[in-house]
Amino acid sequence: MLEALYDRIDDKRDELVELTRSLVRIPTINPPGDAYVDCAELIGRRLARRGFDIQYLRGEGTPGDSERYPRTNVVARRDGRAPGACVHFNGHIDVVEPGLGWSVDPFAAVVRDGRVYGRGTCDMKGGLAAAIIAVEALIESEVDLPGSIEISGTVDEETGGYGGVAYLAHQGFFSKPRVDHVIIPEPLNVDRVCLGHRGVWWAEIETGGHIAHGSMPFLGDCAVRHMGAFLARLESELYPALAQKRTRMPVVPEGARQSTLNINSLHGGLAEGYDGLPSPLVPDSCRMVIDRRFLIEEDLPQVKAEVVSILEALRHERANFSYELRDIMEVQPLMTEADRPVVTAVSAAVERVLGRRAEHIVSPGTYDQKHITRIGHLKDCIAYGPGILDLAHQPDEYVDIDDMVASAKVMATAALELLTGRAP
Ligand SMILES: [Zn+2]
Repeated sequence: MLEALYDRIDDKRDELVELTRSLVRIPTINPPGDAYVDCAELIGRRLARRGFDIQYLRGEGTPGDSERYPRTNVVARRDGRAPGACVHFNGHIDVVEPGLGWSVDPFAAVVRDGRVYGRGTCDMKGGLAAAIIAVEALIESEVDLPGSIEISGTVDEETGGYGGVAYLAHQGFFSKPRVDHVIIPEPLNVDRVCLGHRGVWWAEIETGGHIAHGSMPFLGDCAVRHMGAFLARLESELYPALAQKRTRMPVVPEGARQSTLNINSLHGGLAEGYDGLPSPLVPDSCRMVIDRRFLIEEDLPQVKAEVVSILEALRHERANFSYELRDIMEVQPLMTEADRPVVTAVSAAVERVLGRRAEHIVSPGTYDQKHITRIGHLKDCIAYGPGILDLAHQPDEYVDIDDMVASAKVMATAALELLTGRAP
């Protein structure tokens, strides 16, 4: 019976490619959040023809939402013949800007060597198309399918997901009893099940100083030197300490299996962009944005305290050292337990379709699962989809067509098990 389902998906190979291409040709670049309505309607019109109820939901008032750039999401739902569980496939429709270095038009969706090229092919319109084809094949081959299937195309994942999954989660779209299992076809590769992600703390640290003539710096107080002292302490104390913190989370790549800290930006003194020569000034302000990624074994107050304790030590040791610390963003780490039904069903489906064991991984960075778990309180959520994560946001991004077909089979098999409650 699964063979008939797989044959049906194989028959839809060209349709899968064309659906991917039509999604990629809509340049849903974020920011600013272009063409969201066109993309949401393409998905909505298609699924309406297949018996889905369609809702368009605009994240009014969320960051970036305007009449010119409405944050329009689409949610499609189909109830089966008998009540039962609901399986939801969620894909973000926004893409990042193409940038430079492309050898093809990033929005032409060129097909070459068994791949579809273009911005958003891998991250993640190819995965969304594979989920749609998987569901359509499943509905056609299982006329008495119980339970419900939902597919959503959501906005703004690349900028935090506030107008997309977070907005919908606040309205109950990602909570029981409406939905039981969520699969996000992000590009984690056909044989890997992503259980969650590390935590995030972004903050801005500003050191203060006193402005003076650059020829007499002793009359001022240099904010950049104060920041330099802080940087030196990060190097001698914090970085070595972070390298010691190892996690049981199966993060890939391996290098991210420890706590990390990126210095995102550093600005001190005269603003950039002046014409002519700079003026001789002692900087009275220096600002640094840090991006700290933390582990499930750590907690956020402790993560912050490590930085604050260095700043406080400097305040006691250095004359006139002053600082301000502003939080920018916080995301808790999360990891779905490996024995949850959505994990076991997708893992078994990977083994069935590909003949090898599914690898359980955790993402170094975050994605929309955070909102589903934190706002929707849904524990049964994973990311699984075709595409190579390293290609995301790169020039000449592509998705492999064989991988899309294989992942569609995996998603259809897993949905069948989750809806019928029987292992296929
Ligand atoms: Zn993505």
